[in-house]
Amino acid sequence: MVDKSTRANRGRRSFWTWGWESDEPTQAQRVEAANSLAKSYGCEVTAPPIPSIDSFELRAPRVKIPEKLSAIVTSDKTERVIHTYGGHFLELNRALRGDFSDPPDAIAYPETEQQLEAVLDWCDSKKYAAIPYGGGTTVVEGVSVPASYDGAVTIDMERLNKVLEVDEVSRAARIQAGIFGPDLERELKASGHTLRHFPQSFPWSTLGGWIVTRSGGHYATNHTHIDDFVESTRMLTPKGWLESRRLPGSGAGPSPDRLVMGSEGTLGIVTEAWMRIQKRPIYRATAGVIFSSWEQAYTATRHIVQAKLWPANLRLLDPSEAQRAAGLDGKKALLIIGFESADVPQGEFIKMAVEIARDHGGLISDRDIATSDSSDDATGRAGAVGNWRSSFIGVNAGITNGLGLIADTFETATTWDNWPEFDAKVRDRVGRVLKEVLGDAHSLSCRFTHIYPDGPAPYYTFAGMGAAGGEVEQWQAIKNAANEVLVEAGGTITHHHSVGRMHAKGWSKQQPDLFETVLRSAKKTLDPNAILNPGVLFDPR
Ligand SMILES: Cc1cc2nc3c(=O)[nH]c(=O)nc-3n(C[C@H](O)[C@H](O)[C@H](O)COP(=O)(O)OP(=O)(O)OC[C@H]3O[C@@H](n4cnc5c(N)ncnc54)[C@H](O)[C@@H]3O)c2cc1C
Repeated sequence: MVDKSTRANRGRRSFWTWGWESDEPTQAQRVEAANSLAKSYGCEVTAPPIPSIDSFELRAPRVKIPEKLSAIVTSDKTERVIHTYGGHFLELNRALRGDFSDPPDAIAYPETEQQLEAVLDWCDSKKYAAIPYGGGTTVVEGVSVPASYDGAVTIDMERLNKVLEVDEVSRAARIQAGIFGPDLERELKASGHTLRHFPQSFPWSTLGGWIVTRSGGHYATNHTHIDDFVESTRMLTPKGWLESRRLPGSGAGPSPDRLVMGSEGTLGIVTEAWMRIQKRPIYRATAGVIFSSWEQAYTATRHIVQAKLWPANLRLLDPSEAQRAAGLDGKKALLIIGFESADVPQGEFIKMAVEIARDHGGLISDRDIATSDSSDDATGRAGAVGNWRSSFIGVNAGITNGLGLIADTFETATTWDNWPEFDAKVRDRVGRVLKEVLGDAHSLSCRFTHIYPDGPAPYYTFAGMGAAGGEVEQWQAIKNAANEVLVEAGGTITHHHSVGRMHAKGWSKQQPDLFETVLRSAKKTLDPNAILNPGVLFDPR
């Protein structure tokens, strides 16, 4: 197994799967996946070989790099290829097909804030689109190159990657935006701390990306959105620096950090932030509770979250998801409950949560509740909970990329009073389109990734074999149905995958019109030439 704990060991970014070349599956694994799909769907599936970057045609760079920036800006072909796309499956699919019709013209790697200022000044003076780039794991076309600009420069933040200060008294750290999840955790671990923010894309994504997309970690309740951990931010805009004051809380008018969080690279480039950190957990408790119906399971989940026990994990899998990801029989739902703390044993809390689950039909024996009081934790690694954990962590887009599978997710949140009618509407509308475009052999499943006292955040996954050559149209028809029904039925267009270009229409529908007008005014003030990530959130021109 490749040791990816240091930057040097990870190698180059992959152009066709998430993460690095060391994350790429082998051709033998892809052939095995093709055979398994052929068996499941009763059709022929082959795994085409992975092309080499040398075989791709790219248009000539449209920008001339100034001499003074030549040490940190490049138009190297490989660099342009690996920065053309984010992490959506269709983007990775296009990359595999060698479709690089809109690559960035140059990639900048600033190592200091002064260098970043020089790069942004250059883009602004030439009116080139400037695209901030963290880990490139966006699944909403957040780093794509807009067609209507005469030049585009991707600004890769990966060299601004240090934990600069740890304030042990206030439990906060000043951290640069380009740091990847594992590096950040390794550096904080040295002083016994953690940010405790683990999106599924944690190995390949960055602090800056998390902050501007308002990412959701995989803890299900309490502090889980990155917003909760942001103490202050520092962001470079074409009009200058915007830096907020470090405060544990403040009622002084609208919060500047709230403008930065969710701005998705359209208002400025975040270079660093003070983040609230925590002691690393020692006490843990985990249980997997089985329910014979979806209704019993989500009712129990609501009662647990409303009891304000604040489990770290409260992840609910519907029967179809529990079968696929945890190996259950396809009829039963699975509720994974997890507690953890740096200071307090968690055994009593999990017993209370399990009692509530049992009151609503949950099945689990006492011996299946695992507790641990060691930092070397192994709870939750066995049985259905362990199966789910492995499938969650082992996710790899490259295995099925290019095999004809249309598989994607969409996620949202809605209030409990709107549930389960909301779920029924989504399954009906999206299910009909799935049947139309993929036939009967498709799947649509749901899990709750995050759960609030006033409502769940449902996360839907669909899959089926597409018609060769028609994947884009087929996916678009399904995605349109999902986007429309989520907003019409009273949910949000996205709970944690952000807006990007893919959700811009739904986001606009969901916002009060005046709010969008205010945001456009902010954009005009901070970025008058509309160079920053044009097309994300809205079209600034
Ligand atoms: C397999 C997989 C699992 C995922 N799981 C989760 C999950 O559990 N939770 C979740 O919230 N999301 C998830 N995502 C989505 C994605 O990982 C998040 O949106 C993440 O926050 C993006 O971080 P990044 O560093 O990769 O940013 P990028 O993808 O590089 O960029 C995302 C957006 O932020 C902008 N940006 C990046 N850095 C900066 C900066 N320093 N300043 C200003 N703008 C910047 C970019 O221009 C772009 O618009 C997942 C994606 C994948 C592929």
